[in-house]
Amino acid sequence: MKITSVKSVLLTPFPWVLVKVKTDEGITGIGEAYHGAGVHHIAVDGRLTRVLLGQDPRNVDKLFRDMMKCMSASGFYQGAVMSAISGIEMALWDITGQAIGTPIWQLLGGKFRDKIRMYNDCHAGAEETPESYADTARAAEARGFDAIKFDIDPRPSQRDKYNRCISNNDIAHFVEVVTAMREALDPNTDLAIDAHWNYAPSDILKVAYAFEDLDLLWLEDPTPPENVEAMAKVTQSTRTPICTGENFYTRYGFRELIQNQAADIVSPDMAKAGGLLEGRRIADMADMYYIPLAPHNICGPIGTVHMSHVCAASPNFLALEFHHLDNEIWNTLTVERDLITDGHMDVTTTPGLGVTLDEEVARQVTQEDLGFFDD
Ligand code: MG
Repeated sequence: MKITSVKSVLLTPFPWVLVKVKTDEGITGIGEAYHGAGVHHIAVDGRLTRVLLGQDPRNVDKLFRDMMKCMSASGFYQGAVMSAISGIEMALWDITGQAIGTPIWQLLGGKFRDKIRMYNDCHAGAEETPESYADTARAAEARGFDAIKFDIDPRPSQRDKYNRCISNNDIAHFVEVVTAMREALDPNTDLAIDAHWNYAPSDILKVAYAFEDLDLLWLEDPTPPENVEAMAKVTQSTRTPICTGENFYTRYGFRELIQNQAADIVSPDMAKAGGLLEGRRIADMADMYYIPLAPHNICGPIGTVHMSHVCAASPNFLALEFHHLDNEIWNTLTVERDLITDGHMDVTTTPGLGVTLDEEVARQVTQEDLGFFDD
């Protein structure tokens, strides 16, 4: 079997990037790369595809390393290039699974579970009040999610946009909002809070300390991702569990974070961190320190189902992010519908990815006239 073409499309309004890999035996694989500037162009750039065309797509790890190597002269082990590589790697697994006649999770070591627990990212309340946040949390819980996430981004009242400090008033507001949500939810419904890398260690620790008796699932990205020591300081200073990882790339990028136990939970985004096998490797590395896996995910259904295979095959899986509740395009991009019910996604059972892109829907929402895959 040989790869004959690599194509990509960019969708709208949410800029999902889909990658399609074709073979000379009629098997086609589909993957999804994390969106970002130029990712859909990089996925089909000749400097990348020249190491794929004519090769056996089933040698997934070899081709992953070949893709990394061909871009290494530019040091592109991360960012948009690694996102493009991630989407291609997923498509190669889809082909391999179909060729062998088995779901991808089987190729990653087999499954630990039949349902994938999804957590719903709600972002914020309809208004900046504790009551509004509590209403939004309750509404997500009523839809069947037993894990829910909200953001505590800097407020307009923040005194200075650059020093990463939080005023006492804003700390009080964050605590009031999160307390209201915690009290509104069933005690067994997990609540996570995302700080989006905005804060200084000493300031976010004031918030983390105040959250300690609220039994949060985690506080995410308290400090910027590039300084693991600062992250470790926060993690080791509070009983509130700290989660990070969506801006780390490949197992190499996670090594220092995990070896220093700088997070209590890791959240790689497999659509940019290197794809599915790299996701399983990161999960295994985290598992050596008994650290759970909660992948970051803002993909459409193709990328989300791809990630579900790693979630099924990783013993330390905790929950997978879902970002697109009531997004009609998300719900119609695959031939199979209602992929998430009652806060969970069934692990697929058919060969390869296990769901099929609805090409007509994808064509209707393609953003740029790159030629829709085969046009
Ligand atoms: Mg996040």
